[in-house]
Amino acid sequence: MVMESTERMDYYQIESMLTKEERLFRDRVRKFVDRDCLPIISDHFDKGVFPMHLVPKMAKLGLFGLHVDGYGCRRKSHTVYGLVCQELGRCDSGLRALFSVQNSLTMLPIYRFGSEKQRKTWLSKMARGKVIGCFGLSEPDFGSNPAGMKTRADRRGNSYLLNGTKMWITNGTIADVAVVWAKTDHEIRGFLVESGTPGFEAKEIRRKFSYRTSPTSLLVFNDCEIPAENILPKGRGLKSILSCLNSARHGVACGALGSAMACYQTALNFACEREVFEKPIASYQLVQDRLVRMGIEIAKGQLLTYHLGRLLDQDRATHIQISMAKLNNVREAMKIARMARDILGARGILADHHVIRHLCDLEAISTLEGTENIQTLILGQDITGISAFR
Ligand SMILES: Cc1cc2nc3c(=O)[nH]c(=O)nc-3n(C[C@H](O)[C@H](O)[C@H](O)COP(=O)(O)OP(=O)(O)OC[C@H]3O[C@@H](n4cnc5c(N)ncnc54)[C@H](O)[C@@H]3O)c2cc1C
Repeated sequence: MVMESTERMDYYQIESMLTKEERLFRDRVRKFVDRDCLPIISDHFDKGVFPMHLVPKMAKLGLFGLHVDGYGCRRKSHTVYGLVCQELGRCDSGLRALFSVQNSLTMLPIYRFGSEKQRKTWLSKMARGKVIGCFGLSEPDFGSNPAGMKTRADRRGNSYLLNGTKMWITNGTIADVAVVWAKTDHEIRGFLVESGTPGFEAKEIRRKFSYRTSPTSLLVFNDCEIPAENILPKGRGLKSILSCLNSARHGVACGALGSAMACYQTALNFACEREVFEKPIASYQLVQDRLVRMGIEIAKGQLLTYHLGRLLDQDRATHIQISMAKLNNVREAMKIARMARDILGARGILADHHVIRHLCDLEAISTLEGTENIQTLILGQDITGISAFR
């Protein structure tokens, strides 16, 4: 009875607005997700480990270095980047996070702010998946307010001494290089710190019930001496940081949409098949009401992310639009996942249907890359002209 309906997932014909190249790239990632990722992801979530064997496959698909020209990378449009996030998010947010952090929060700052030597050292290895990166900004006491960070980088001749702690760092324990933001005497600067550098330790944050496939870490710097040439020459202050976060937030908005689409499809299929009181539950008005609400929000999320991708491609997107997409898509994805879980009845809590996993992951997503409150304040400030941050 149930068709695998692309129309029911694409009411405003976004498909027809994508170029052939965009569709082909998206479809290659979709196939990879369906064949290699979905069958194994619940086990990895259960064990709380990232499926590292997928990294070379992601590299082979050309998923690393989408914002970079040259250095062994094949740059793609922001629209394509968003579509990849959507497809990976359809499977697992930890998978999407590895992709986003590698592209937007490590390769992009090295490409945008790094010296020629730094680009040559890292980018092609990262494109091949031989090197994984992480982005150390948040600290135990400074998440929403990174400007208050305590981590310091003090110049000592031809070196810098790093001291401080970064917290909640995605990929920290599997990363070979960390982009670390620290205060010098003058301003916040970005530094490249290689794993294994004396005085630097990455520790996994355990006992998480969300984002379980993603290694979330503490980075501890204790008189960690790094060569002065490891500073990112063009990475200065919060402006540089925010330019990378904008790209990552776009990815989160698209990834959350993917998770929502997965939950919706599962709920729709289930509702058409599951019979209660001798009829499919999809025939009951209350269930239809939920499916309609889910479908409308997915259509709105698709329009938002599609249009945002195009604005980014034309270099016309503002950080306000990105915040709006992140806030809306994550908030609505949480509601959709919740409704899907309910439609599945008791089965909604089983790993096999994936919905409960998405629901748990979306809890972390509402916090990372700027919490729901912070995105709201960004928009509130833009609308009223008044900052309500303090
Ligand atoms: C799974 C995961 C992965 C992450 N990955 C990374 C990473 O790779 N790199 C990195 O640097 N960081 C990462 N983070 C950190 C993330 O960016 C921070 O958690 C986030 O910015 C919020 O900071 P916080 O947790 O310290 O919360 P807090 O800033 O302490 O906020 C606590 C609560 O107070 C609210 N609040 C704060 N200020 C205000 C205000 N002015 N008005 C109203 N409400 C306010 C917040 O909205 C929130 O509800 C990750 C976090 C998670 C959960």
